Amino acid sequence: TKKALIIGAGIAGIATAIRLAVKWYEVEVFEVNSYPGGKLTSIQKDGYRFDAGPSLFTMPQYVDELFTLTGKNPRDYFNYQKLEVVCQYFYEDGTQLTAYADEQKLANEIAAKTGEAAEAMQKFAANSKRIYQITNHVFLERSLHQIKTYLRFNTLKSILRLLQIDAMRTMHKANQNFFKDSRMVQYFDRYATYNGSNPYSAPATLNVIPHLEQHYGAWFPEGGMQAITDSLVKLAESVGVKFHYNSPVEEIVIEDKRTKGIKIKDAFLPADVVVSNMDVWFTYQKLLSKYPALQPKKILQQERSSSALIFYWGIKKLFKQLDLHNIFFSADYEAEFNHIWQEKNISDDPTIYLNISSKYKPDDAPAGHENWFVMINVPNNTGQDWDKLIDEARENIRKKLFRILGADVKQLITSESILDPRSIESKTSSYQGSLYGNSSNTQFAAFLRHANRSARIKNLYFCGGSVHPGGGIPLALLSAKIVGEWVK
Ligand code: FAD
Repeated sequence: TKKALIIGAGIAGIATAIRLAVKWYEVEVFEVNSYPGGKLTSIQKDGYRFDAGPSLFTMPQYVDELFTLTGKNPRDYFNYQKLEVVCQYFYEDGTQLTAYADEQKLANEIAAKTGEAAEAMQKFAANSKRIYQITNHVFLERSLHQIKTYLRFNTLKSILRLLQIDAMRTMHKANQNFFKDSRMVQYFDRYATYNGSNPYSAPATLNVIPHLEQHYGAWFPEGGMQAITDSLVKLAESVGVKFHYNSPVEEIVIEDKRTKGIKIKDAFLPADVVVSNMDVWFTYQKLLSKYPALQPKKILQQERSSSALIFYWGIKKLFKQLDLHNIFFSADYEAEFNHIWQEKNISDDPTIYLNISSKYKPDDAPAGHENWFVMINVPNNTGQDWDKLIDEARENIRKKLFRILGADVKQLITSESILDPRSIESKTSSYQGSLYGNSSNTQFAAFLRHANRSARIKNLYFCGGSVHPGGGIPLALLSAKIVGEWVK
């Protein structure tokens, strides 16, 4: 049998391991942390449990696919429930809007709260769906870096329709065209942050994202997001994958432009195939530093996605008006993004994303309490004074929540943990603490992500949120699928 070694037990590394095991490879995964999941992990503290990273679960079919691939029933391992209310939105002007999963109910709610006509929503939804149908074949489910992709009939058809994917104007401009009400423009602009981008510069092609959420739904995994990692590790082990924790890979060994294996604690482990799930930037900087000539410089110089600052707060009160996902919008969205992208600091009125998994999983907090995951988008790490920024942000978040909810959360916090760009970088080796690899702030971003295999080094593959097709759980899982198809 052939041997595959995988660097990193992030969600894409685990998914790739399963796909290669099914192809009869002997697979071993090496993970620097003492736990699997990378960004998809959890924190236990003071009687609370928090999902540490991702909290919104979309396109669950890509997780299920891994079970069916191995002949197993996903429902024996992993269950999830559909959210009827996807998110509660709060605006500074007092508007509160409930985003229902049901399209008709959502259109009615939007018409009632903002006066925006249902036809505007329908037009937007049709446009979003069309972009999905075109981009899905070209950008998402296939490698962009293989000639075969361009020869497929569906791909050709998609390329001919490229003009229709709205890449020539920004997302914000397009949304201003679709909607009269500035609250709706802000509502749809926010989807740019799903891959760490800026709606004022990202192409309107990103309007595909609301289609994924609206059409395929938002879900809550039984057991919380952590259950995705746990069930996939269990599945991987059941098909023979071996995991080694506390095992930092130090080098990828190359000979004659061919991957020979990896080095770990100075031991050489030979392999037929090596897959890096480590951020592609650090893979070249740390594991391939002996081979500067083999670096794809242009690709590695791309702008990174934004990062996040998260407060994990234990709260000694129940808030009936809140749901699993809640957004508190800033009054001036453009100013907020200028802070993130131009000034590289944090606005004093940031949009707050509040996730409360105890709404669906009550044992995540003690009785009468809630577990608050309070996240704001922040610039990636270029050496800012984060301790100062964090103190200011905590105070500004408190003031904003007081304005909108009328409660002083400072009096209610019984536990606090923090994740910031520095700790995201150190805990998951994500360059600059970016959440989603490269940003998508230009039309060309999709073409400038690193391919899922090296063009210069044989038998070296890449999966995960820092390479094609991009960040977020669904795309990270698709990167594993492409690697699985590529490895023979
Ligand atoms: P990672 O999770 O980054 O895993 C890489 C692994 O490689 C890590 O475990 C790391 O320790 C390991 N590693 C690195 N270097 C080495 C080495 N030298 N040797 C051995 N191992 C190594 N996505 C969504 O879909 N929905 C969301 O709501 C969402 N919200 C997010 C919120 C936050 C705060 C964050 C951080 C991310 C969020 N994302 C979300 C993005 C999502 O988490 C990621 O895109 C996805 O988890 C990336 O998975 P991955 O496999 O690429 O890599």
